[in-house]
Amino acid sequence: MASSAKTNRKHLLLVGGGHAHVLVLEAFARDPEPGLAITLVSRNRLTPYSGMLPGHLTGAYTRDEIHIDLERLARAAGARLVLDEAIGFDSALRRARLKGGEALAYDILSVDIGITPDLSGIAGADEHALAVKPIGSLLEKWDRLAEKALAPDGPRRFAIVGGGAAGICLAFAVRAFFTKRVSDSIEVSLIAASEASGINAGMRRRIARALKRRGIALRAEDAALRIDRDGVMLASGQFVPADAVLVSTHAAPPPVLAATDWAKDESGFLAVGPTLQILNDAAVFAVGDCATMIAHPRPKAGVFAVRQGPVLARNLRRAVRGEALESYIPQRDHLLLIATGDGRAIGGRGRFLAFEGRLAWRLKDAIDRRFMRRFG
Ligand SMILES: Cc1cc2nc3c(=O)[nH]c(=O)nc-3n(C[C@H](O)[C@H](O)[C@H](O)COP(=O)(O)OP(=O)(O)OC[C@H]3O[C@@H](n4cnc5c(N)ncnc54)[C@H](O)[C@@H]3O)c2cc1C
Repeated sequence: MASSAKTNRKHLLLVGGGHAHVLVLEAFARDPEPGLAITLVSRNRLTPYSGMLPGHLTGAYTRDEIHIDLERLARAAGARLVLDEAIGFDSALRRARLKGGEALAYDILSVDIGITPDLSGIAGADEHALAVKPIGSLLEKWDRLAEKALAPDGPRRFAIVGGGAAGICLAFAVRAFFTKRVSDSIEVSLIAASEASGINAGMRRRIARALKRRGIALRAEDAALRIDRDGVMLASGQFVPADAVLVSTHAAPPPVLAATDWAKDESGFLAVGPTLQILNDAAVFAVGDCATMIAHPRPKAGVFAVRQGPVLARNLRRAVRGEALESYIPQRDHLLLIATGDGRAIGGRGRFLAFEGRLAWRLKDAIDRRFMRRFG
């Protein structure tokens, strides 16, 4: 990439094809910014949309339907797509180093690279479990698991560790997928150390009933301590026998951020202010799971990354033009819809609203399909 100083055009570098960046590209495709060169660095050409991922695992959507084609989107936005991975950032020189050897200079950088799995708290997880997060690598692992499960001596007992929304979705997806493909005598357990944040009491009751209805054993308020080839040892001393264990617990910041001198929160996620700029570097924006809005922290969920997308697009445009940036306060709660894998869903919002049924699934389906239509 020619230095931006030589060409006199400003260079916006987007690293990571996450949920917020696809909306930035969509915004610049709709309304191009004169004098701006855009580069997107992404490990993959296709990026999955988290809202439809569990639905894909249950067979409701094809793989194409849940992926956004970054090549097509970048082309529409007049952006250059570099299929590579950022392995270092030099904030003094304003450069990102890529695995393939290229160094990209930027005037403005935006980072949307998600998270990396953190299995460190559970002994044996590295060796014996499948890390569910980040979603970018989940489908490959899922395919391998499905292939194994189709063999006559393949896994029949599945345990999901992590009682957050992703773990719950996954438990329903595992039940639906493997019951249909393998056998209706498979066993599924969900291990949840604590109550999921952002899920109100009414939803929790409905989820517990749906788990029971779907034959999923809930091990509530019990943490996984150790995973071995036969199953999961819990803090209570109970053992959950399992041939395949999927872990959907905490996640850590991507390692590439650790060596940077950018401001971070206590867990190492990039610390950003209300304009989505990193607190100690106005040339750098960070969004989605890899960042924490220090004054308004929110759970790591795709819905928050999606909400940041349009704000980020406007602020990047303003930064290019040298205009004052917009401040953003993310909403406190959001509509949460969990598919139960049987053509139904459980929904809720805030402290009190909770509902379930076929209409809830249709609502989720309509919202997610409308989102994906934006990307052709
Ligand atoms: C099973 C499951 C179901 C979920 N369901 C929901 C849901 O229904 N609703 C919801 O709100 N959330 C859901 N989530 C959470 C959601 O997936 C994440 O919060 C969301 O993906 C975060 O988006 P993001 O933009 O931060 O990053 P991501 O979507 O993870 O995208 C980051 C991208 O950056 C790329 N990347 C990473 N490092 C580099 C690098 N160094 N250089 C270049 N590219 C890089 C990655 O390959 C990836 O493509 C679910 C999660 C799981 C595991």
